[in-house]
Amino acid sequence: MTCADYRLATSARLDGEPAAPDAPPCAAHAQACADCAQWLAGARRLRELTRAAAGPSAQRSQRLIAAVLDAAVRDAAALDEVVFDEVGAGGRAEGDGTSVAHEGS
Ligand SMILES: [Zn+2]
Repeated sequence: MTCADYRLATSARLDGEPAAPDAPPCAAHAQACADCAQWLAGARRLRELTRAAAGPSAQRSQRLIAAVLDAAVRDAAALDEVVFDEVGAGGRAEGDGTSVAHEGS
């Protein structure tokens, strides 16, 4: 079994997919391969963090929708403020919106 075979089969197993009938056993590879043992620890940790991450609540989503609709009725500048307040600085575009930066050009 190659590292790629091991990681493909193990990733599928971590995702809850049933093992293929002809899938080779993976445990021996993980015990013999330090790289894949480390990969498995990282994959398990990522899975735990993904499951534990809380998405936006229904109340927060409804509050945001109501605020956006209210601001849209008032004017576009107010809409920008609401989106910025609710989503945070990461959701606001930089600059005046008239220029576009191109990487590598
Ligand atoms: Zn390996």
